[in-house]
Amino acid sequence: MTLVQLRTARPPSAVVGGPLVDPQARRVRYLRVSLTDRCNYRCTYCMPEDGIDRIARADLLTLEEIATIVQVFAGMGVERVRLTGGEPMVRRGLVELVASLAALPLDVVMTTNGARLAGLAAPLRQAGLRGLTVSLDSLDPGRFAAITRRGVLAEVLAGLEAASAAGFTGIKLNTVAIRGFNDHELGALALWAWERGHVPRFIEVMPMSGGRLYVPGELLPASEIRERVALAAGAPLVADSGEGVRGLGPATYWRVASGPHAGRRVGVIAPMTENFCGSCNRLRLSAAGSLHNCLARDDAGDLRSVLRSEGAVALAARVRAVLGYKQSGHTFALDGHGGPDKAMISIGG
Ligand code: SAM
Ligand code: SF4
Repeated sequence: MTLVQLRTARPPSAVVGGPLVDPQARRVRYLRVSLTDRCNYRCTYCMPEDGIDRIARADLLTLEEIATIVQVFAGMGVERVRLTGGEPMVRRGLVELVASLAALPLDVVMTTNGARLAGLAAPLRQAGLRGLTVSLDSLDPGRFAAITRRGVLAEVLAGLEAASAAGFTGIKLNTVAIRGFNDHELGALALWAWERGHVPRFIEVMPMSGGRLYVPGELLPASEIRERVALAAGAPLVADSGEGVRGLGPATYWRVASGPHAGRRVGVIAPMTENFCGSCNRLRLSAAGSLHNCLARDDAGDLRSVLRSEGAVALAARVRAVLGYKQSGHTFALDGHGGPDKAMISIGG
């Protein structure tokens, strides 16, 4: 049975009860799905070089199980699913999975390191992938290799070209802003992205993994990120409206106010200095099938065993039960305390 057949064989009629709303009255519209805890890179802020516990193969959700779970979420009003990882492009059957999910009434988008994008951009586009976010921490090949520990910049750049050629527009480029590493490059990265029609986004580094990979002095606050981009743009940045328009995700968006880059957009993701938990609309599914209410907390509820023992019909109730425990926000502290023990690689950013 193909994934698409599986999807149509189980209509979402069992999934009723209205939209997903958490105890703080925030509506869940967005599901992030980690397809694997494997990665072909070893980014220094995301995972240690070695010594990571891996999910056993038998514990990984199958592609059919992922499709079934996403279908249940679609039936509860989730509007977007983001495929992530680890690195989603190392998961076998990815294109087939995207084709299956694309037939559901939600947008399917992906975050990738871009290493395999050159070969996969066209098939993924054809399969119905709607949006791409590509991580890019430096435009210097040596620095890129250093931060990813094994990445080849030219491969990612070729991937971005292939993605544009395949018809992806508004590709978002994710840069983790790290003082003393790439802070001097942020302006150049923004200009580079704008020239190619991409949307640069800068992320404050977060203390995942019990703070073990976090160096407090490396945090570059959102206010400084915006200053550096404004300097490169030669004009102030203005919030899209009010404090900055939020997309469906965590970024706030800013525009260049005037000059040759007037109107260009930049996104800033600032969990550390401009907390956005009040507008959280997300849940996260790990590759092993546990449902996490928050990136920054370790508590999670198991969907895999429910699906395997009771079937898809029992999933909606389980999801609502887990959501009932969603807290009002994270407790990340600037000194590196207050974060979860789980690693970013295990849940997907
Ligand atoms: N492998 C894919 C990639 O790198 O785009 C998807 C998974 S990765 C965990 C998702 C995003 O999280 C990436 O943009 C990455 O740069 C970001 N990220 C990882 N660890 C982080 C940390 N400690 N703080 C802030 N962002 C982090
Ligand atoms: Fe891999 Fe992405 Fe983590 Fe880098 S940030 S190690 S590419 S999962």
